[in-house]
Amino acid sequence: MSTNTPTRVGFIGLGNMGSGMTRNLQKAGFDLVVNDIRRESADELVAAGALWADTPAEVAAQSEVVITMLPTPRHVETVVCDPTMGILAGIADNGTWVDMSTSVPELAQRVRSDYADRNLHILDAPVSGMSVGAANGMLQIFIGGESDDVARLRPIFEAMGDPERILHVGSAGTGYAVKLMINQLWFSHLVATAEVLAIGVRAGVDLGVLRNSLIASPANSNFVQNDLLSILDNGDYDEGFAIALACKDLGLSIDLARAVGAPSELSALVEQIYRRARAQYGDRAGEMTPVKLYEDLLGIEFRVQKEFA
Ligand code: NAD
Repeated sequence: MSTNTPTRVGFIGLGNMGSGMTRNLQKAGFDLVVNDIRRESADELVAAGALWADTPAEVAAQSEVVITMLPTPRHVETVVCDPTMGILAGIADNGTWVDMSTSVPELAQRVRSDYADRNLHILDAPVSGMSVGAANGMLQIFIGGESDDVARLRPIFEAMGDPERILHVGSAGTGYAVKLMINQLWFSHLVATAEVLAIGVRAGVDLGVLRNSLIASPANSNFVQNDLLSILDNGDYDEGFAIALACKDLGLSIDLARAVGAPSELSALVEQIYRRARAQYGDRAGEMTPVKLYEDLLGIEFRVQKEFA
């Protein structure tokens, strides 16, 4: 670890992602100061030596860098800006805040300009890799910010992510944009795959044969080859990422398209299908539940018998 890498790390948001990320920071030897609105989410970390702080302001006051991993831009705004309990009420001048939530740049931009005299270092570093990647320290991390800050914080990112896939993607705000585009494309793959499987199976093709044929073809994708397997094998739609958050990401992605004046017809359709699945199966249903919409509509279960050698 370089001598200017912070060793006392504040972390706010100990949910599906934050719980694994903090465990890995702790394992790598960082001293943690943690907070969540659910006090019990910190029990294991505190038992292993982390300090609990009652508010984000106290987290910021006691750490050299504060990380947020929160559901939506609204939650991030509350945690950062609350006049008495927010990060800004506790962080030192020259302090560092890294937002790893899937969010948008507006809040960070506003903080940078409203508090310009405080010389805060603010980075966006959202992640991919699902809760399993958070648990095993193999997240992909897309960082927007100044090169010096990225270099200084790299050991912290490496404690949570795959060193080969920690990418500095540009100036502040670009990490958020890259992450939204990754999710948009992945959700689009999911919906397109569900539709194709439904049509193919209805046309009389065996599901396993159809999938193997897609994998052998130019239409193969990481989704067909890998991510779909949890549904085919176990009917697991990944409750580690709630569909309510997937809908949030799709909405932010379309907002971004609108803001930059780019068309987003396909994204808008995918968002509608996700919203239909959310209405049908509830906020906490897994991010892959839109596949179930097609299954239920046609009375087909997409399951493939595992082959035993
Ligand atoms: P989550 O809902 O499981 O966890 C969020 C945590 O934030 C919860 O523990 C909640 O209690 C806490 N929280 C909410 N408001 C708070 C406040 N005011 N103060 C302190 N704590 C507060 O969400 P998650 O699945 O861990 O996702 C977090 C972020 O990561 C989201 O932006 C999501 O889009 C993104 N993400 C999630 C996944 C995934 O697979 N789950 C993958 C990549 C990115």
